[in-house]
Amino acid sequence: MDRFDVLISGGGMVGTTLACALQHSGMKIGLIEANPPADIHGDDPVELRVSAITRASQQIFTALEAWPGMAARRISPFREMHVWDGGGEGVIHFDAAELGEDALGHIVENAVVQRALWDALQAGGGIELLCPAAVTALQRDGDGIACRLQDGRELRARLLVGADGAQSRVRHFARIQARGWSYDQQAVVTTVVTEGSHCETAWQRFLPTGPLAFLPLHDGRSSIVWSTTPQQARQLLADDEQSFCRQLESAFAATLGRIESCGERAAFPLRLQYVDSYVQPGLALIGDAAHSVHPLAGQGVNLGILDAACLAEVLLDARAQGGDIAALKVLRRYERWRKGHNLLMMGAMDGFKRLFGTTWEPLRWARGAGMNLTNSLPPLKQLIMNHAMGRSGDLPALARWAPHEQFSVP
Ligand SMILES: Cc1cc2nc3c(=O)[nH]c(=O)nc-3n(C[C@H](O)[C@H](O)[C@H](O)COP(=O)(O)OP(=O)(O)OC[C@H]3O[C@@H](n4cnc5c(N)ncnc54)[C@H](O)[C@@H]3O)c2cc1C
Repeated sequence: MDRFDVLISGGGMVGTTLACALQHSGMKIGLIEANPPADIHGDDPVELRVSAITRASQQIFTALEAWPGMAARRISPFREMHVWDGGGEGVIHFDAAELGEDALGHIVENAVVQRALWDALQAGGGIELLCPAAVTALQRDGDGIACRLQDGRELRARLLVGADGAQSRVRHFARIQARGWSYDQQAVVTTVVTEGSHCETAWQRFLPTGPLAFLPLHDGRSSIVWSTTPQQARQLLADDEQSFCRQLESAFAATLGRIESCGERAAFPLRLQYVDSYVQPGLALIGDAAHSVHPLAGQGVNLGILDAACLAEVLLDARAQGGDIAALKVLRRYERWRKGHNLLMMGAMDGFKRLFGTTWEPLRWARGAGMNLTNSLPPLKQLIMNHAMGRSGDLPALARWAPHEQFSVP
């Protein structure tokens, strides 16, 4: 039976970030991933799934030497963000220049993030990649956790990390209950060609049925995330391209002119989900395995990347002090560091979703007045921008790294 210090189940964007952060730790690390990541080149067609990557996540990817691999393929900066109320008068405009920055964040395809992290992992060595492979059973005893893989292999780990997404098998095996609720919404995603330029701006119009976002891509097209009722989502997937484009144009108030064409379409059900316990002795959950939020502010994967950086820092600290990386008192440090922050973000996203979903006139008026007041107060806007860029709160060392500083892990 192969023995590992840390086994990570799930090599998506979050699990691979953790593997990269532990790569030079001297510990024996294994990464188990069910689906080999696609090899993406700069001229391949744009993938359907993209994420708004915060400056904090960019900082982490830079420190892990994965950002150049993303930039070499394709990334798209958004320098401004324009948010407005489709059911009222409120408008807020954010501009990176107000903070003296060149961008608020970047739109990057999920597959590009995963591939560049994977390449950094392979270039650095020191990690055993088990792919394709999937955990099918777990057994805990005094000596750690034994994992059985689909192909019958048995592995033993002192610490098992579940980074296997919202339907986490690790969470299920550990009998950690996920709570939450369905938003009764689906996010329709596609890529569109618009008549007008996206102006390197992320646009978001709040409609009573859900937010509609246009995110700028490197080739002038926009990636859209249209959160709406399941009935409308079904219809939007079934409609022909012309009909879809006209409905999208109308929902977006033709802000970027005519929608000239769209690519493949898909829809994802939206849920809020969280767990009470991120850790057990010898086990930790990170990313969507621990929490899923509404995509309206593009924070989901960024929270997971911060989880990965914080857990890595806690484990490296414990090891440097001769502690046991699998001990509950060590893992609780990670849980305390991340749980409150994630719950706050989750609550804020849930609040926004409800606030913009109401058609009750006094609340509609109040949200418009609130948005316009915020828009007229630069210090408040700067605070919000810093928060959305992932620069507030108690950040892990990897997210605080800056190019002029010497980076070192404990
Ligand atoms: C429409 C939409 C738009 C979004 N936009 C944004 C955005 O702009 N910004 C943002 O920050 N977030 C966004 N999110 C959220 C973001 O996509 C998720 O938070 C993110 O994908 C979670 O990453 P993860 O690595 O934790 O999980 P996942 O992406 O689910 O990855 C889990 C990995 O584990 C593997 N796996 C699963 N089970 C097993 C097993 N048993 N054994 C081995 N491997 C396994 C899977 O193959 C997968 O690679 C959006 C979500 C949606 C639905």
